[in-house]
Amino acid sequence: MSTAERKSIGFVSLGCPKALVDSERILTQLKLDGYDIVPSYQDADVVVVNTCGFIDSAKQESLDSIGEALRENGKVIVTGCMGKDAEDITRVHPDVLAVTGPQAYEEVVGAVHEFVPAPAVEHNPFTDLVPPQGVKLTPRHYAYLKISEGCNHSCSFCIIPDMRGKLVSRPIGDVMEEAERLVKAGVRELLVISQDTSAYGVDIKYRTGFWNGRPLKTRMQELAEALGEFGIWVRLHYVYPYPHVDHVIPLMAEGKITPYLDIPFQHGSPRVLKAMKRPAAAENTLERIRAWREICPEITLRSTFIVGFPGETEEDFEVLLDFLEEAQLDRVGCFQYSPVDGAAANELPGHVPTEVMQDRWERFMATQQAISTRKLQDKIGSTQEILIDSVDGEGAVGRTHADAPEIDGLVHLAGITDLTPGDFVEAEISGADEYDLYV
Ligand code: SF4
Repeated sequence: MSTAERKSIGFVSLGCPKALVDSERILTQLKLDGYDIVPSYQDADVVVVNTCGFIDSAKQESLDSIGEALRENGKVIVTGCMGKDAEDITRVHPDVLAVTGPQAYEEVVGAVHEFVPAPAVEHNPFTDLVPPQGVKLTPRHYAYLKISEGCNHSCSFCIIPDMRGKLVSRPIGDVMEEAERLVKAGVRELLVISQDTSAYGVDIKYRTGFWNGRPLKTRMQELAEALGEFGIWVRLHYVYPYPHVDHVIPLMAEGKITPYLDIPFQHGSPRVLKAMKRPAAAENTLERIRAWREICPEITLRSTFIVGFPGETEEDFEVLLDFLEEAQLDRVGCFQYSPVDGAAANELPGHVPTEVMQDRWERFMATQQAISTRKLQDKIGSTQEILIDSVDGEGAVGRTHADAPEIDGLVHLAGITDLTPGDFVEAEISGADEYDLYV
């Protein structure tokens, strides 16, 4: 097929790592269907915008991006979380060609075919450039592995279950096959994601699936064990502190999976957690953390928190600060509460004034920053395994197992230029600041 006959698609991907995985799947299919993916509005026959509708500012960003694509190109198809309520989009942008919802891969690909029909393509194994792992938007050496869609919880500040529906776990055989393809294609780090990784398989009663003829239960522990066999970094995100999470900690201690847990605690006060309707809110989390550290002292714990949730009192906030001091978490993000359209928390009494929220956020950050800085200082003089992310004329930048891409810290290796992204190296840490390490 000549280049002139081929059709080109522009793609704008917004939102969280989960949305990025959706984008990757859509792009993979479009390439397989014979479309070219181009990086500019001008060269595209149509632009697909994968939107995020998690919080109001993300919705606005999505609407702005759709507007920009309409101005620059004129032909726009919208998909993703915001696509669930087509009217929210068409009210502002009546000229979009089609609106499809989250994970509606076939629908969005179908819309592309409808508005920009692809010439018939014959599969040619010698010229087909689609690598077996698909067209990835993340660097080649790490990849997100999405194990389920939707969520069975009903946290009062969140509308994801309304947007994405109840938990639907992917069969473990499919997940393992995808992981194997990624590893064969050069991926050195898998980031396991879902709305609630600890709930994997609950919806299908941990049904037994098969991978390479071997029976495996659809459950977080079995999945982690099997992924650990690839001998690469396997990082678990969005895990809740349920008792059964204890079973994956020995796998970390034995070096089978990366000693890292991303647990969005959101608060430390049981009263606020209850109002938030958080999963595992009744668990004794501090006790659990202590037990995990006994089994695997090098475990890195990352978390996120919300300050200023409706009804949060000064006393609740101080409980949260005490929790931080006790928990000694390694990496922490903190957000000031902001209402999400349609969330149950909007109806809760006890609105926290903006200046109080700002003050609490600053005190939270100061407390945690002292902890994180101290923890990084402790690494000076230690030898760490580092996965290289990028290299230029000045040196290399990578991460230790304690740091997930995009959200955690970096290791700077000044003057070391003979490395390639995806390399693992060992080096002694000589310096640290509040976020990063230096070799
Ligand atoms: S666990 Fe809570 S915050 Fe996370 S997706 Fe489910 S309802 Fe939303």
